[in-house]
Amino acid sequence: MKLYEYQAKALFSKSGIPIPQGEVVKSVDELQNLRDLTYPVVVKSQVLVGGRGKAGGIKFANDKTELRSAVETLLNNFQIKGYPVEAVLIEEKVPVVEECYLSVTLDRAFRMPLIMFSRSGGVDIEEVAKTNPQAIAKVQVDPAMGLRGFHLERLMQEGGVTDPEVKKEIKKVVQALYSLYRESDAMLVEINPLMILEDKTVVAADGKMETDDSALFRQPEQKELLADQPINKLEKKASDTGFLYIDVNDSGNVGVISNGSGMIMSCIDWIARQGGQVTCALDLGGGATADRVAEGIKIVLENNKVKSLLISIFGGITRCDEIAGGILKAVTENDFGVPIVTRLEGTNKEKGLEILSAADQKKVAVTTSLPEAAETVIKVQQ
Ligand code: GDP
Ligand code: MN
Repeated sequence: MKLYEYQAKALFSKSGIPIPQGEVVKSVDELQNLRDLTYPVVVKSQVLVGGRGKAGGIKFANDKTELRSAVETLLNNFQIKGYPVEAVLIEEKVPVVEECYLSVTLDRAFRMPLIMFSRSGGVDIEEVAKTNPQAIAKVQVDPAMGLRGFHLERLMQEGGVTDPEVKKEIKKVVQALYSLYRESDAMLVEINPLMILEDKTVVAADGKMETDDSALFRQPEQKELLADQPINKLEKKASDTGFLYIDVNDSGNVGVISNGSGMIMSCIDWIARQGGQVTCALDLGGGATADRVAEGIKIVLENNKVKSLLISIFGGITRCDEIAGGILKAVTENDFGVPIVTRLEGTNKEKGLEILSAADQKKVAVTTSLPEAAETVIKVQQ
């Protein structure tokens, strides 16, 4: 599960990592109850993707009027990489001297947590890794041994931090962030930028966290945060309807509806093979009726990253004519604006194809094999 910046920062603060004074606002009206903040302030879109700055999702305001207009802009249908902004974090602007990068992730090859630190922070770290890899200091920590002084010292030395006061401050943050990573069952904790201020203290100006869903049972605090997570709304909707919704890949743009996890995986693989990428999938399970199929289609298309949808069904208990009826019902009753590609096989296939032939061919393309369906679902986006 991905955490919003304000959620991550609340956990940072609890762990003893300094964060800027700030408050979350979900509507312009809430500005009335805003506690006194010292201007200038930063207004930050709360969405679960990075690169908000470049996308215009971070604004600065010098007084109340500017603040109001910034909040109005961001909360009024502003989208970042397809994510609508539903909340903003308003923070006192930190007078920065230097922007650093700090993160803890899992190094799967080493099977150990990996700490990365760089003085080239505030920018896309993947870019730094490509163009100037030696600017990033890396230290693996054997979890059985835990984080020790020599790890910290090496990180600072390789990271080129020499000022003893600054070094001491950053080391404290590394220790706190590492503890948080372990205790929260995180897969990623990242501060970019970690800001060094004039008085040589440091502040986490940004916060990113991703935790392991499988550990949720022992993370009651995170369970409470779930209610605010957008993708989980779809997961919940699906499970309330008796389906399984799977968030596959953030950077994908194809949706998949199928029956059975094996078939879903084949669909994902075939689409990847044809050069596309699946963003989410829905498992209808067995014996879906027309009404329920229509429900399933609506759920997947609520994810606005989906630019085309593949429905691939192998009819056994599930009958192809029921599925076809559901597809026809869904596209007749709604104007999704997203092309659907179908592939039906098995029980009552002929009947199903006959039903689909009544649908608008621009909205629903009929294919007869999975490779053809995968190719088509990418093509219809162009
Ligand atoms: P991201 O683009 O989604 O990673 O959002 P960030 O929170 O990292 O903000 C982008 C950039 O805005 C940062 O790298 C900083 O340069 C700038 N920024 C954000 N907060 C502050 C702040 O409090 N003070 C100053 N001076 N700059 C800030
Ligand atoms: Mn950032």
